[in-house]
Order: sequence, then structure tokens, then C-alpha cells
Amino acid sequence: LFAGPCDFVAAVPTIDRLPPFSLPEVAFAGRSNVGKSSLVNALTGRNTLARTSNTPGRTQQLNFFELNKTLLLVDMPGYGYAAVPKTEIARWKRVMDQYLSGRVTLRRVLVLIDSRHGLKENDLEELTIFDHRAVSYQVVLTKADKVKPGALTRVWEETKAKLAKRPASHPEVMVTSSETGQGIEDLRASLHLLASL
Ligand code: GDP
Repeated sequence: LFAGPCDFVAAVPTIDRLPPFSLPEVAFAGRSNVGKSSLVNALTGRNTLARTSNTPGRTQQLNFFELNKTLLLVDMPGYGYAAVPKTEIARWKRVMDQYLSGRVTLRRVLVLIDSRHGLKENDLEELTIFDHRAVSYQVVLTKADKVKPGALTRVWEETKAKLAKRPASHPEVMVTSSETGQGIEDLRASLHLLASL
């Protein structure tokens, strides 16, 4: 999966531009600056998301990449920009809602959360959308190297507790660092599994 080519497939600003159903899909979500580009680059071993790097205020879109003709990786725009106008946020929410409710090939959304912060209110709002749409999601803690082991364990346990009653949540919370490589192999293994479903 990660040894073969990783090709940019499509940038999707509106729902009519979605690529047709083909391969299984895994989407990456998280607030801006959570470490999404770094994580995807660490996973794929290349600068996959560099060209889509988050710039506050730019048009929000879904970006699709194809991994080794096996899995589509979907980069969801980072949420939590104060700079984005309300009309653009409303437009984007409609696009996301349509994507999430109709995408039968979407196997899971990986929701990235900074290990230093844990789940915040706007993360929980995002998770509620997934729960309402019955879209399976899993939390991945990022930047684990930035916190001491004791604090990391606390955030991990708190996160699991907050997810426990959420119907579409995967019970396992992964811990990763793009800096040290912690958890990257485990994440690759779960993407392999999702690609085979
Ligand atoms: P994105 O906006 O979610 O795509 O976030 P980026 O991948 O651009 O990362 C935001 C900042 O966090 C950058 O300065 C990265 O170098 C830093 N960063 C990302 N992942 C890690 C990590 O695992 N460990 C550390 N120490 N820094 C990280």
C-alpha cells in the first residue's frame, strides 16, 4: 500500500465534482495545525499533502489521493479557522454533509487530535456530525512526543472516556508522532485492514 505510487486524484470544492465510487476510502479530519500533513507524509513516506497545505481563508475542498491503486485517502479541510467567512462555512457544511451521507465507499474517518489538548468543543461538534451520519470514525492522537508519558496516558484515557457513548466511534484511540515515528506502523496496519474491507 505504501510502497507503490501515491497519486493526486481530485480536488473537490462542490459535491458534483466528487470522483466516482471506486476504491475504499479513508478520510483524515482534524482542526488546522493538528499535524495532519505531517502524519500523512510520515505514513506515505512522501510529501503527499504539501500541495494542499492549509492556508487560512482559502477555498475549502476535499482532496483525494490514491495509494497504490488500493485505497483512496481523503484530506478533509481543517476546521477551526476564525478567518473563514460564515457563508463559506455554511456552504462547506452542506458539501461535507452530502459527502458523508452518500459515500458508501468511505470506510472510516480518522479524526486527528493534538495530544497536548485532547478533545475540545469543536472536535466534539465534528464527531456529532459523524455520529448522526453513522460514519465510522476513530480518534488518532498526534504529536505524542510533545507530552510527558504520564500526561499522554491521562489524555488517552480521557479521550476514550469521552468517546465511550458515541455510537459511530471506534473504541481504540491511536497514539502517534510524526516526529519519532511512534504509532505510524500501527496506523499503516489499520489502513491495510480498511483497504481490504
Ligand atoms: P496540519 O495543519 O494539520 O496539516 O499540521 P502540520 O502537519 O502542518 O503541522 C503543524 C505543526 O506541528 C508544524 O509545525 C509541524 O512541524 C508540527 N508537527 C506536526 N506533527 C508533529 C509531531 O508529531 N511532533 C512534533 N513535535 N511536531 C509536529
